[in-house]
Amino acid sequence: MDINQVDIEKIVQQVLSQMGDQKPDGRKQTAPQSFSIPKRAKVAMMTDLRKIEVKEFDIPEIGDDEMLVKVEGCGICGTDVHEYKNDPFGLIPVVLGHEGSGQIVKMGKNITQDTTGKPLALGDKIVTCTIPCGKCDACLNMREKDNLCENSGIYGLMPEDDHYHFNGWFSEYLVIRKGSTFFKVNDMSLKLRLLIEPAAVVVHAVERAKSTGLLTFNSNVAIQGLGPIGLMLLAVIRTMGVENIIAIDGDEKRLQMAKRFGAKYTMNFKNYKDLDEQVRRLKELTSGRGADFAFQCTGVPAAASNVWKFVKRGGGLAEIGFFVDNGCCSINPHHDICKKEITMVGSWTYKVSDYPITFDFLRRAVGIGLPIEELITHEYSLDQMNEAMDTNMKQLGIKIAYINKN
Ligand SMILES: [Zn+2]
Ligand SMILES: [Zn+2]
Repeated sequence: MDINQVDIEKIVQQVLSQMGDQKPDGRKQTAPQSFSIPKRAKVAMMTDLRKIEVKEFDIPEIGDDEMLVKVEGCGICGTDVHEYKNDPFGLIPVVLGHEGSGQIVKMGKNITQDTTGKPLALGDKIVTCTIPCGKCDACLNMREKDNLCENSGIYGLMPEDDHYHFNGWFSEYLVIRKGSTFFKVNDMSLKLRLLIEPAAVVVHAVERAKSTGLLTFNSNVAIQGLGPIGLMLLAVIRTMGVENIIAIDGDEKRLQMAKRFGAKYTMNFKNYKDLDEQVRRLKELTSGRGADFAFQCTGVPAAASNVWKFVKRGGGLAEIGFFVDNGCCSINPHHDICKKEITMVGSWTYKVSDYPITFDFLRRAVGIGLPIEELITHEYSLDQMNEAMDTNMKQLGIKIAYINKN
C-alpha cells in the first residue's frame, strides 16, 4: 500500500486527538461528574494606569448556554502591556489576558460541542477565540474575513463593567458566554496551549503572505523583529519547509534563540553603521538579490520604513508588527513601491478558522524538534501581575505568562 505524506499526517493527527480523550493505559477517559467550585474567586483587575489589583467576586450562576472554566494560565501579550501603560482602548477597569487556557468545570445544558464540533465534557481543556458580532459588514458580507469584524469580542479586552466580572484570563475562573468560539485542546501541554493565540496571529499572517504567491520553499525570507511573534513566525515557516531565513534583531539572546528555531543567518542591526550597510549584508546573504519575502514583526515605525529596503524588486512584504498605533512611518513611493513592484499585505489578528490550522502547526513544530515551549521564559502568579508587566516592559524575557498553581 502506498501511504503518502498527507495520509500519514492525518493518521498522526487522529491518534493525537484521540490520545487527548484517553487515559495513558488506553481506557476511555471518564469525565468527573462535578468539580468543587468556590463561591468566590479572584481576578487581577487593572484599576488604573500601571496598576493591577487582585479583587474577589462571587462566581455567577452559569446559564444554559454558558460554561465556567478554571483558568490554568495565560500569556501576556504586547497589547496587554500597551493597555497597562496607556489604556488606549479606554477599558479601565478591566481584567486583561486573552492568551489563556483552562479546564471546563461547569457546563450549561445546551453546550455539547466545541466550535469544530468535537464533543465537550466536564474536565476538557479549552482555549477561546473571538466572539464575532454577526452584524457588521465583515460578519454579514465577508464571511471568510471574520477577523475584520468591527465589534469582535475577545476575553481579556472587555470593559469590566458587565455583570460577569470573570471576563479576562488573568483570573482564577472565566465565564464563557453565548456566542463565543472555543476549542478543545486536551492533547497539548499547558505551555503549548498558552502559545496558541500568538501562534494563530502568525498562522494568519503566513496565510496572507502565501496569498501573494511570493512565499515558496526556496524563498529567501527576512524576519525583522524577534519577539514572541517573530520567533513564532520563524517556527511556522520552518515547519512549512522554508529554509533560507535571515533573522534580524538588536538583541543577541533573541538572535541565538532564532538560530535554535532554524534561522540560517542572523543579523544584529546594532553591529552595522547604517541601514545601507545592513542592506549590503542582507544582499550578500541572498546572492546579491535581497529578500524574496520579508515579515516586519516589530512595533517600531523606523523599522517599518527600513524593511522595504531589504525586499528585492518584485518581492513581497507582510506587515504584522502594529496591532497597536505606535505612530506613522515614511515610505519612499518611488524607490520602495513603484520601482520595486513590491506586493505588500497587512495582517490583522486571526480568523476563527485559523485556530485548527494553528493546533496542527504547533504539533508539527514540536514534532520536528523546535523548542517552542521555551518561548515562555517567565511565570507569575495572579498577585504578581504588576511585576509580570514590568518584566515584559523591560523586555527581560520572551513570553511572560500567568500560571495558576491553585
Ligand atoms: Zn495576543
Ligand atoms: Zn462583526
